[in-house]
Amino acid sequence: MQDIYCQQIIPGKLKVDVIFETDTVMAFHHTQPYWENHVVIIPKAHIDSLSTYPNDAVLNKDFFEAIRVVTKLLEDNYGGCRISSNVGDYQTSKHLHWYVHQGERLRDESGDSLRK
Ligand SMILES: [Zn+2]
Repeated sequence: MQDIYCQQIIPGKLKVDVIFETDTVMAFHHTQPYWENHVVIIPKAHIDSLSTYPNDAVLNKDFFEAIRVVTKLLEDNYGGCRISSNVGDYQTSKHLHWYVHQGERLRDESGDSLRK
């Protein structure tokens, strides 16, 4: 099973532009963005998705702090943003991740460019 977060990003093999990080979560700019501004927020420990989320107090606190920091950054710079998380068949990577995004959509769900 491909899991770019556990295999590449969390161990530091694939360098990412980190915006916010604690012992349990990290937020970084998507390496191949689907929107003009596209931030990914992940737990550092593997969790499949929100449907298996452990509801851990420290993780809850860190996740919402990451969400606050990232959404404030995009709101301050661009006026607003959207946050989403896919589950099950909607996930291309089976590691829980939130997308916080703003601006024009650059690529479709399969990753193909929408730019003419
Ligand atoms: Zn994982």
